[in-house]
Amino acid sequence: MTIHKPAASETGDPLLLTPGPLTTSASVKQAMVHDWGSRDAGFLAINKMVLDRIVELAGAVNERGEGTHVTVPVQGSGTFAVEAMITSFVPKTGKLLVLINGAYGQRALKIAQIAGRATASLETPEDTPPDLAQLEAMLAANKDITHVFAVHCETTSGILNPIAEVAEIVAKQGRRLLVDSMSAFGALEIDARKITYDALAASSNKCLEGVPGLGFVVCRNTALAECKGNSTTLVLDLFDQAEAFARTGQYRFTPPIHVIVALGKAIEEHAAEGGVAGRGKRYRDNAKVLIDGMRAMGFQTLLPNDLQAPIIVTFHMPTDPKFVFQRFYDGLKDRGYVIYPGKLTVADSFRMGCIGRLYPEHMKGALAAVRDVLDELRVSNGGPALAAE
Ligand SMILES: *Cc1c(COP(=O)(O)O)cnc(C)c1O
Repeated sequence: MTIHKPAASETGDPLLLTPGPLTTSASVKQAMVHDWGSRDAGFLAINKMVLDRIVELAGAVNERGEGTHVTVPVQGSGTFAVEAMITSFVPKTGKLLVLINGAYGQRALKIAQIAGRATASLETPEDTPPDLAQLEAMLAANKDITHVFAVHCETTSGILNPIAEVAEIVAKQGRRLLVDSMSAFGALEIDARKITYDALAASSNKCLEGVPGLGFVVCRNTALAECKGNSTTLVLDLFDQAEAFARTGQYRFTPPIHVIVALGKAIEEHAAEGGVAGRGKRYRDNAKVLIDGMRAMGFQTLLPNDLQAPIIVTFHMPTDPKFVFQRFYDGLKDRGYVIYPGKLTVADSFRMGCIGRLYPEHMKGALAAVRDVLDELRVSNGGPALAAE
C-alpha cells in the first residue's frame, strides 16, 4: 500500500465528493471572518446583491431588465426552502401532484401531507424519469390538482429529470409548477424566460459553492402576490418574508449573516468562472473524468449517460465478496476523499459527487485513490455482475 500525503482542499480539509455540504474555496470561507449587525448597511447591500444576482442567474428578467421574479431567502437548509415554497404557494384548498423518483420527491409529498394539503403522486423507479404521457393524462382527468411539484436533478440517483417538458405540460394544462432545483441551480440552465414556473427552490451550498445555511425561493412576482394567507407557519411564510423585505429591506428574524456574505463571495466567483455555463462545464468535465475512470476499473453506473446529470454519480456496489464498503469508504477518507453511501431502494450502491470546489485533477486523484484501495482490498474489478479473479 502506498500512502501519500492525503488530498486536501485549499484549507487542508478532505475533499467532499458528496451531495452537499461541499468543498468551498478558501476565499469563500475567508469572507466570513467579520461581524456585522443585521441592520448594517454593508451587510444589507451584500444581501440585496445576492438576491438580485440569483434572479439574474434564473433568467428571471424581462427585455427592459426588470425582474419578473423575486428571490425570497429562507434561513435554514434547502429543505426549509422547499417546505416554505410548498406551504406558501399551495393554498389550503389546493391540491399538489408530486412527481417522485427519489427521496426528495418523497420528502416533498411528506411536507405537503404534514401541512394538511390534498396530494396526489406519480411515482417512477429511481432510475426512470417521470412518465410524461401519464402526467398529462392525470392532469386532464383530475381538475382538482392545482399545482405540480418536480425535482430538477434528483440527487438520490443523480438523474436529470425533463423539467422543460414537465413545465410545458403543466402550463398547457393550466396548472402551476413548483421546482426543486436544489442540486442543479447555478450549474444546469433553467431559464425563467423559457421554463414557466411559479416558484423554484435552491440553496447556498450546492452548485453556487457557498456554505450551508440559506435556502431561497425564486418566485414569479404575479404568483407570489396571490399567496397571502396560504402559509401554515410564521417563519416559512414567503409572502410575509417578501413583504417585509419590500418594506424594510431586512429579514424578519436573525439572518445567517456569515452565510449570506460568503454566498456573495461565492456568486462573484461563479460569475468569474463564466456563470452557469462555466460552472456547468467544469462539473461536466469532472463527471466525465470520474465516470470514464470508474468504468475502466469495472464499476457500473446506475444510469445511462443520457439520464445522468453532471452532479452526482451512483455506482452499483461491486459484487466481489472481498469488497467491504466501510473499508472502501475509510480507505478513501484516509487518502483525502469523502464519498457518500447510496440512498436507493432499487439497487445496492454508493455515490460520488462532481460538485463543489473540485476540478478534473481532483477527480483523477480520487480515481487513483479508488485503485489503491481496491488493491489493498484485493478486489481486481469493481463490477457488479462478476466476482473477479
Ligand atoms: C440537497 C437537496 C435538498 C435539500 O437538502 P437539505 O439537506 O435540506 O439542504 C432538496 N432537494 C434536493 C434535490 C437536494 O439535492
